[in-house]
Amino acid sequence: MLEVLREPMESGEIVISRAAQQTTFPASFQLVAAMNPCPCGYAGHPQIACQCTEQQVQRYRQKISGPLLDRFDLHIEVPAIGLRELQMQGATDTTEQVRTRVEQARGAAVERSGAANQYLSGGALEQFCALEEADRLMLEQALQKLGMSARAYHRVLRVARTIADLSGVEKISSAHLLESLSFRALDRRRMTQVIGSGVTSN
Ligand SMILES: [Zn+2]
Repeated sequence: MLEVLREPMESGEIVISRAAQQTTFPASFQLVAAMNPCPCGYAGHPQIACQCTEQQVQRYRQKISGPLLDRFDLHIEVPAIGLRELQMQGATDTTEQVRTRVEQARGAAVERSGAANQYLSGGALEQFCALEEADRLMLEQALQKLGMSARAYHRVLRVARTIADLSGVEKISSAHLLESLSFRALDRRRMTQVIGSGVTSN
């Protein structure tokens, strides 16, 4: 069922075909999804032991297909936090501060290319996400190692563009690329599984 999201996530439209008729509806949305690390929910927990077998964990994670995963810009692992940490009031940015930063970054992107970074593709992507030769090589090697698709490659570039915009920097640097790559946690995990199970990736 989740797989039907693939098309609208990519195109921002939903096409419904019934008999001789076909209608297209706008479907530009931001999807935020969460899943447990394993069926019991405790894999990687600092205190509670996970009860699942390796195979159960693998089967559970494989419910999300590679092509669907590819369409998410950011994958982030959120470790369990203790009650103490939850109660600790750290020096964090307020919502207003974050909003200002996001609006500035988005404004810079629209001013540069006429649209938010998520809409960059083809020639515009090449132009506005231009990389130094050494950075391009580094990214290509990282992608090969992670077994990432061309689609994921473009997402890494767009996210790096946004990270640079959030720092108010015009040129994408290797630090922006590395940070962008760090948001592909599930690609890394999938790759470890592929290597671990001795199955060749295609
Ligand atoms: Zn478990």
